[in-house]
Amino acid sequence: MSTRNEQLFERAQRSIPGGVNSPVRAFRSVGGTPRFFTRGQGSRLWDADGAEYIDYVGSWGPAIVGHAHPEVIRAVQEAAVGGLSFGAPTEAEILMAETLCARVPSIEQVRLVSSGTEATMSAIRLARGFTGRDAIVKFEGCYHGHADSLLVKAGSGALTFGNPSSGGVPDDFAKHTLVLDYNDVQQLEDCFRNHGDRIACVIVEPVVGNMNLIVPSREFIDAMRALCTKHGAVLIFDEVMTGFRVGPVGAQGLFGITPDLTTLGKVIGGGMPVGAFGGRRDIMSAIAPLGAVYQAGTLSGNPVAVAAGLKTLELINAPGFHDRLAARTKQFCDGLVAAAKEAGVTFSAQSVGGMFGLYFRDGCPASYAEVMQSDRERFNRFFHAMLDAGVYLAPSAFEAGFVSGAHSEDDVAQTVAKARSAFARVCA
Ligand SMILES: *Cc1c(COP(=O)(O)O)cnc(C)c1O
Repeated sequence: MSTRNEQLFERAQRSIPGGVNSPVRAFRSVGGTPRFFTRGQGSRLWDADGAEYIDYVGSWGPAIVGHAHPEVIRAVQEAAVGGLSFGAPTEAEILMAETLCARVPSIEQVRLVSSGTEATMSAIRLARGFTGRDAIVKFEGCYHGHADSLLVKAGSGALTFGNPSSGGVPDDFAKHTLVLDYNDVQQLEDCFRNHGDRIACVIVEPVVGNMNLIVPSREFIDAMRALCTKHGAVLIFDEVMTGFRVGPVGAQGLFGITPDLTTLGKVIGGGMPVGAFGGRRDIMSAIAPLGAVYQAGTLSGNPVAVAAGLKTLELINAPGFHDRLAARTKQFCDGLVAAAKEAGVTFSAQSVGGMFGLYFRDGCPASYAEVMQSDRERFNRFFHAMLDAGVYLAPSAFEAGFVSGAHSEDDVAQTVAKARSAFARVCA
């Protein structure tokens, strides 16, 4: 007898490639059958077989106030009654733009889009248009959405231009992208020394959440800012994941660094499709209709998505929200580390605000190469043991995880208790 999840996965694969609309959902890296969810409430999810889970994915970050928060749902319902989209301006968009500009000091002007991918793709086009240069710098393991010039891996040498990491991306696109090692200041300096006058922008996850969680060194962040300023390149902080997640302003607030452009997504839509890119007014003025860089979107800033985002941003602006979130996330990490130690499992964990990384290796990694040293097999066994016990973690050893404001102290305590037996099973 197959489960309902199995039946749905079978059926999905007939009409959807791989059965999913975004690849990591397919459980390819951990094996097994993806869960099809029917409902979420607060910190919990329920799947098609009726199993309940404490959720640490939170839709990959957006669910920062928990699933189906009653005030967010009400805001969406009220907006929907008034019409879903007009393809014309609304006051809600201004409120969203004003909120982003007020909360993130580096953002003087902002444009709304419908996904993180659109935000980063547009920010890069803008940086190229503004500087009149073609080359871009990214770091191995950072993910900035699936635009062509970003699906690139390092070339034969660190300072040579890259190769496509996906089918369908012409070499001609990839050849403008330089891929460097995260946290490697020397390489960054060498790169600017060799190519400085060709570099339109550096795009970076200021805390990485797409190769598990990686924290930048102070020197790395400072060097990026200084080199971009010196060489007239645009510094783009991709805060699609970290924005309003690692702290009330995002990573730039934590580090006290002012990027030229910032990309946002995830939390600012509260579960609806909203992205944004914004920053220096002189750069933003280069976009159509003011400037020569084209960018557009039929559903950009639509009232229903914006209503969910605005209400979410209002809820997380409550005094102490991020302090409580950070404390809860740290409690989770500390609990798991202690449980692993008891079981004698080589394991480490860390958190930044409401984001965490779990690593089956000794010590927290600082680069892609170090992340790759973690024990995938052990993670996969741990993942399935936790899933069986009713805890939904990201189905990959190379993704960050998320805690929400709806996760109680008791949720975390229950999770740690389940982890204790899961670690024991990992060793068995
Ligand atoms: C999720 C993510 C994106 C892509 O956003 P989508 O909404 O999935 O297109 C871009 N950059 C970072 C850092 C992300 O975490």
